[in-house]
Amino acid sequence: MSCPNGCEPFEADRWSFVNVTQNPELRDAVLGGELNLFCCPQCSTFFHGDTDLIYLDEQAGLLVFVFSDKNRQNQKELLEKMQHDYALLKDNLLKQLKLDVGPLCVFGLEELKDVVQKEQQRTDESEAVAAASAALGLKVARLHPQWAREHESPLYVPAGTDGTAEGFAAAARKVLDGGLKSPLLEHFAKLMEGGRVKAPDIL
Ligand SMILES: [Zn+2]
Repeated sequence: MSCPNGCEPFEADRWSFVNVTQNPELRDAVLGGELNLFCCPQCSTFFHGDTDLIYLDEQAGLLVFVFSDKNRQNQKELLEKMQHDYALLKDNLLKQLKLDVGPLCVFGLEELKDVVQKEQQRTDESEAVAAASAALGLKVARLHPQWAREHESPLYVPAGTDGTAEGFAAAARKVLDGGLKSPLLEHFAKLMEGGRVKAPDIL
């Protein structure tokens, strides 16, 4: 590892695979900007080890390939590499964990932080939706996390009575009319009402 001031290289461990389900403190490290943050022993400058890494959140169904910020111009090549690495992961770790998630790709730890922050907000808002649904005596359905992310929806929604889009829409409206403020649930309700999307992917 060498600092940006060109001091003598030094040895340091850096994270290349981060599983926040096993190490929840690493999520905080990403959010706080402390992941792969080093201090040069010679000039005491703090800097981020700019390295490729994989971020996995099993519960959120979130798999992010983080490429070094300085490789942004090699996007096409890296996306190919990502698909290759993803295929290996899928046959091994993801199979063991019984996880069915597609990969996201970002450049640099700042972009990873944005993704994780958004996910955190989604989780908080989803828990409020689940609580409000239960309080109205409605059953709660867990959406496939990837489906939820791609459709700007909460991770939990009130389950309709019949599993149709109309049923989900009616249940979501009931919760929203009950006074819950949730842009994600509002978006989900509109999606189900719109008739363009059939019923969501449920876990
Ligand atoms: Zn230095």
